[in-house]
Amino acid sequence: MRMKKNLLWLVLLALLLGIASPALAQSESPELILKLRRDWGYGGFNGDIQGNFSVTVEGPADLVSVRYYLDGETLLGESGETPAFRVAFVTDDYPPGQHTLVAVGVRADGTELRSQELVRLFVGREQAGEMMGRIGVPLAVIVVALLAVSALAPLLATGRKKAHRPGEYGWLGGAVCPKCGKPYRLSALGLKLGFSRLENCPHCRKWSLVRRAGPEELAAAEARLAAEDGAGGLTPELDAQETLRKQLDDTRYD
Ligand SMILES: [Zn+2]
Repeated sequence: MRMKKNLLWLVLLALLLGIASPALAQSESPELILKLRRDWGYGGFNGDIQGNFSVTVEGPADLVSVRYYLDGETLLGESGETPAFRVAFVTDDYPPGQHTLVAVGVRADGTELRSQELVRLFVGREQAGEMMGRIGVPLAVIVVALLAVSALAPLLATGRKKAHRPGEYGWLGGAVCPKCGKPYRLSALGLKLGFSRLENCPHCRKWSLVRRAGPEELAAAEARLAAEDGAGGLTPELDAQETLRKQLDDTRYD
């Protein structure tokens, strides 16, 4: 325990010195930094990876070639291509499990540089799919729930038709459908656009931009609705004609 604590302080001190004197650190030993990049595949939060990956390095300018090793002995690949010395690999080509990646760079004078080690857990294709599923499933549930709500909204609007009683329009007030001329209550679900609301008429089920109607306008529409209910419904042609007449009337009285 005490040893560990001392070691921690030593590391901290080294880090502080490294930050305080980067020039000194650089002149002492030019670092070879190994980098792992995902090209196409899965990368989890716990260092588990699957798919197509690339290893590259950042190193001194006189770097000639770089060899990449898996677990210290298996040659992953070699590159003489400056500046990144990129080597691509597929995790599925190696047995699943924990692997250590390391790069060995060769400088112009023949000396070798060893990079830091990167430890990753190579997971199988199925396991990666499962992990993706774990993230994907809750997302799919949310999407399905949203779709269900948007599909149910018109149904709720239809349900309101049965519950509708003339004269009752709720706290948002009532509107008269410009398409069929019948009254309905404004819904909280209606999309507000400026002074108007996009509403689905429970009578003709058409969408239109409506405004809150005045009591007289609503009363007239209610009378129309009552007359129609008694007559057993108008034909669509008559309905459209009535709408047109209503619109003309509206413009006349404005
Ligand atoms: Zn309507």
